[in-house]
Formats: sequence, structure tokens, C-alpha cells
Amino acid sequence: MQRGVDAPFPDSLCHGCRHLKLVPGARSVFLQCLAMAQRYPPQPVRRCPGFTPRDTGAPEGGKEAPPT
Ligand code: SF4
Repeated sequence: MQRGVDAPFPDSLCHGCRHLKLVPGARSVFLQCLAMAQRYPPQPVRRCPGFTPRDTGAPEGGKEAPPT
């Protein structure tokens, strides 16, 4: 399953966040947050203090490697 395609609320901020976990159910997919106290925030999320972009190309806690 690809994020933002089959998952609900494709316009939610969560789909661009590294704290999102997609949890498949019997008939639907749930958006679980691994960072906030509220594990299943009301969707779609528009603003979030815990938002952390995913897939930045940079190593965790580091900077992007210079081009070679
Ligand atoms: S930290 Fe915020 S934006 Fe990220 S998955 Fe959790 S609720 Fe969504």
C-alpha cells in the first residue's frame, strides 16, 4: 500500500510525516501516530507540533551528503 494513494485523507499532513504508521483494518486503513499522545488524531490533520518531514534524503539527525 502506498501512502497517500490507498490510505484515507490523502491531503492530511500526516502523510508527509515520518511518525505516521498505516494500520490496515478489515475494511479500512487507519492513520496511527507514533509520536503524539493521541494515537489516532482526528483527520485530516492540518497543523501539528510534532510534524517531522519524511524522506528528506538526509540521515537521521544529520545533513544531506554533498553531491559527488
Ligand atoms: S506527529 Fe502529527 S503530523 Fe506526524 S503523524 Fe503524528 S499527528 Fe500526524
